[in-house]
Amino acid sequence: MIDNGKTLTPKLVKKLWIAFIFLIVLMGASYIFITGYLTLNYNQAITQRINANVANHVIQEKFQNAAPFLEDGTVNKALFGDLMHDMMAVNRGIEVYLLDKSGDILYSVVLEHNDNEPMKSVSLDPINKFIETKGEEFILGDDPLNREEQNIFSAAPFSVDGHEGYIYIIVAGKELALISDSLFGTYFTKLSIGAIVLTMLFSALIGILSIWFLTKNLRLITQTVRKFQEGDLDIRIENPEQSDIEVVALSFNEMADTIVDNMDKMKSVDNLRRELIANVSHDLRTPLAVLKGYIETLQIKKDSLTELQKEEYLQITHNNIDKLSSLINQLFEYSKLEAEQVTPIKEPFSITELSHDLIAKFKLLAEQKQIQLQLENPEENYMVYADIGLVERALQNLIENAIKYTEPNGKVTLSLVKMGKQIEINITDTGNGIPVNDQPFIFDRYKQVDEHTKKQGLGLGLAIVKKIMDLHDTTIVVLSKPYEGSSFIFKLPAYQLQ
Ligand code: ADP
Repeated sequence: MIDNGKTLTPKLVKKLWIAFIFLIVLMGASYIFITGYLTLNYNQAITQRINANVANHVIQEKFQNAAPFLEDGTVNKALFGDLMHDMMAVNRGIEVYLLDKSGDILYSVVLEHNDNEPMKSVSLDPINKFIETKGEEFILGDDPLNREEQNIFSAAPFSVDGHEGYIYIIVAGKELALISDSLFGTYFTKLSIGAIVLTMLFSALIGILSIWFLTKNLRLITQTVRKFQEGDLDIRIENPEQSDIEVVALSFNEMADTIVDNMDKMKSVDNLRRELIANVSHDLRTPLAVLKGYIETLQIKKDSLTELQKEEYLQITHNNIDKLSSLINQLFEYSKLEAEQVTPIKEPFSITELSHDLIAKFKLLAEQKQIQLQLENPEENYMVYADIGLVERALQNLIENAIKYTEPNGKVTLSLVKMGKQIEINITDTGNGIPVNDQPFIFDRYKQVDEHTKKQGLGLGLAIVKKIMDLHDTTIVVLSKPYEGSSFIFKLPAYQLQ
């Protein structure tokens, strides 16, 4: 049972929200990280592209047309230094290196050294790649002042008096990095805040909408369940197959149908039980009233009545007491069966022998009514596996009925036929038969078939038979034609002798 319908949806919404906020934070963080990383690269790529030709320019404009910077393999430090310091006046972040063709640093002009020992040579791979692509690709190279990091650069090859090498210029050295870092920090903070706020806003909007859509069907189901719980038994989820949670919607509808069906069944059983009590009290009252009447007559008129009359009245009271005790016994038996207090004790026994005994028992009664009672195939001995006491009770009721509802000169036959692993037991009479409309109800004690049968008995006999069949997991079938007769047929498992 749902303890409280109100808590169901909010709990789920809370969980969805937690998941969503987690997602938003994750998205925001990834966004900041990616943006930060790309912006840094973007900055560096622009600086590198702008300064791509610096190294080339230096060689073409200054060294080759002016005085050579290498004289007999020695660096013209004055010239080189001069030029570089001019450049540094414009861009304090640059570092200029003169490399030989294997990448060893021949000479360098840097504004300030840090505490680390500068590198003695740099890797030529990025330099060659840079020259190859004419500086159009974003490439990072070694920064001799900073072993841990790579940096953007410009490079150009030179060849002076048979001496080959490279001019290698770190275009955004430590100085530039510091400026760019501090500027980047400010912009980045603004960017991050903006990005997070926007992401949060949009995500919250999408979140609210998604959660609303996600829980829409759930809310509908919760409301329906609550209404059903409050007593609206006809309520169902409309078009459950269109629901996002189709299984839940269909299951609820099926469950509601089952509950309503069971309630209907219980109600009808309850009604039938009331009917039974009413009928039983009626049936008990009649013989009691007769008894009372005859006993009173005997008391009042005991002196005026003849011996024959007294004998007749006593016989009537005796018959009514028999009727009463049989009614009470049947009722007791039926209640025990219905309350499921009876457990069948199954064992192998000869159904043929039992049939012989029953035929013998009812022979006299049948003869009195001039009815021929017989067992078919008496020589075959069939064994069944069942509760002998209960089967005897069922057969007794069926034979009793067959005799009761058969006119004189009629015939009642009990036949046993082996059918595969079962024995079919058939009690057929040539009696009045049962009207087709009544046939479905004769095993149901609660329904009185019609007025004329009501007079003839309590109507518990077949109800008891039906219960006994249920306990043996078998069914009883009635075939009957009015004015021709009836057959009651059931099967029991045959017991195979090993
Ligand atoms: P009862 O015979 O005490 O009325 P049962 O439960 O034995 O109660 O039978 C229920 C009803 O079924 C009977 O009232 C009768 O109308 C019908 N019935 C049962 N057996 C036969 C039969 N062999 N032939 C005709 N009607 C029968």
